Amino acid sequence: MIERRAAARGVRLRADPVQGVVRLGLPARGGTAAAAQLLADHQGWLAAQVARWPAPIPFVAGAAIPFDGGLLVLDWHPGHPRTPRREGDRLLIGGPVELLPGRTLRWLKAAALADLTPATHHHAARVARPVTQVRVADPRARWGSCTSPRDDSGGRIAYSWRLILAPPLVRNNVVAHEVAHLVHANHGTEFHALLRQLDPNGRAARAWLKAHGAGLHWVGRG
Ligand SMILES: [Zn+2]
Repeated sequence: MIERRAAARGVRLRADPVQGVVRLGLPARGGTAAAAQLLADHQGWLAAQVARWPAPIPFVAGAAIPFDGGLLVLDWHPGHPRTPRREGDRLLIGGPVELLPGRTLRWLKAAALADLTPATHHHAARVARPVTQVRVADPRARWGSCTSPRDDSGGRIAYSWRLILAPPLVRNNVVAHEVAHLVHANHGTEFHALLRQLDPNGRAARAWLKAHGAGLHWVGRG
């Protein structure tokens, strides 16, 4: 993927493990000779980066997908109920097989919301701040976001549904992080002190996301 940007001063090469693309950034004009040189110089580096990208885990019958720190097998059978139902480490999914990916995705999003909503209200009660909305989306760059109005009408928090694929301690840290933003709209000293109070295990959660976070974006990809 080649991106020309007016503000760019030089050429830049980046392997993006979340989207699975190699980005070559160039200034508005020129830079092609420098870009060719950069690519030639970094061939080995680039190959190593791409080799380390996570493997896609498509939603297909029999697939084992990460879920809540463990694995969940997509157990498809035309005779299973059409609305997916979890039984231990299996997710029973019925109906036409071509509807399996969509049904799995909807079930995961609902499971994420059902987990993250009470967790958010739990932490919000600890800091005595109201929350009016919790929702899930599929952002590429962050795991959560918090909109906190200046008056006390209540904050709105959005999460990546992919957090349900991660262990509970990771979700707890992201929830604590977003709830701490209801009190401090920055990443200052007071914010971090409050976050440590809400979740003393933040270090383990951040380490997990650093090691496995990109891989969550490959779940459900063909
Ligand atoms: Zn933040």
